[in-house]
Amino acid sequence: MIYLDNAATTRPCDEAVEAAVKTARECFGNVSSLHKMGIEAEKLLVSAKTTILKKLSLQGELYFTSGATESNNTILRGVADAYKRSGKTIITTAMEHPSVARVCDLLEKDGFNIIRLSPKDAFYNFEEYIAEHITSDTILVSCMAVNNETGYKVDTKKLYALIKRKNKSCMLHVDGVQGFCKVPLCGDYISLSAHKIHGFKGVGAMYVAKGCRFTPLLYGGGQQKNLRSGTEQIETIAAFEAAVKAYPTDLSHYEKLNSLLRSRLAQMEEAYVNSPDSDRGVPNILSFSVMGVRSEIMLHYLEEKQIYVSSGSACSKGKISSVPDSFGIDEKRADSTLRVSFSMANTEEEINTLADEIELGIKRFRR
Ligand code: PLP
Repeated sequence: MIYLDNAATTRPCDEAVEAAVKTARECFGNVSSLHKMGIEAEKLLVSAKTTILKKLSLQGELYFTSGATESNNTILRGVADAYKRSGKTIITTAMEHPSVARVCDLLEKDGFNIIRLSPKDAFYNFEEYIAEHITSDTILVSCMAVNNETGYKVDTKKLYALIKRKNKSCMLHVDGVQGFCKVPLCGDYISLSAHKIHGFKGVGAMYVAKGCRFTPLLYGGGQQKNLRSGTEQIETIAAFEAAVKAYPTDLSHYEKLNSLLRSRLAQMEEAYVNSPDSDRGVPNILSFSVMGVRSEIMLHYLEEKQIYVSSGSACSKGKISSVPDSFGIDEKRADSTLRVSFSMANTEEEINTLADEIELGIKRFRR
């Protein structure tokens, strides 16, 4: 089996599995309990928080959630509600994940002015382009750090500085799901998900900078300072911490795999890379189009060979994604798009097998 769909989800690493099992067996107390079992569970929670904040190199608060979908929903809705008296404009991008994009659609219906900007309109200076649109009415910019379909990256540190220069009370929310552990992240609010970095599905976090407010999405037992009610899922939180600690810091292996696949694609007729070069793209995601073969045909052909890739974003299964258009990728090209996303466990041999099979697939299916 060759698994090349790591932007959709990753195999939980041994460290994460062991941490979850150990916690379930030995430290399964409720964080809210006043006795020793609760205190032990709370210690794990605090340790996970400290590890994740250290990895972010940021000081602020961290709240655990059920994943980045919840984090994105909470932050967008919560910030809009908490700051609605300060302004009604939110700037976002046309490349966002549906857990940001759909919430923005709903906020628009609620009377917010939503501005959606496309990377294709300022590919190399998107940060400046976003900042140019900020007015005194703009309360929030929501921009992902790394696009899940193309690997396009935004310099969130630069974006943060430009935003504050234009309007110091405007805040930045970063969907950091695909960037965490791979690129530096900066923002007033950052959404994270464990299953993209070899942790478990169903656990994520939201980082909130000091002094930044939001109205909670969930009400109940008042856990996590009343801002995210619900019993903390300590087993998967412990696994999240273990996955962060285990994530390698030298990511040059991704570059090797990326350039090998690019060089193999360059030898194929009418195979085009959609992902940006390394100046604007991360090396672990490579999107390309094999013209004349529809994505799903090639995806299932590769699946027969036990090679797993994506036809775009796994989260937009069956639905046409608006993301290609935000990068200027036309419909025909989008229709033949494959996304390959690496983990550190992938090998050059696997990439060569993938390329060989794509060549065979082209011979068989190209019309
Ligand atoms: N944001 C981005 C960029 C993603 O790629 C994903 C998942 O694919 C999400 C948010 C949603 O994360 P989760 O699966 O933790 O809800």
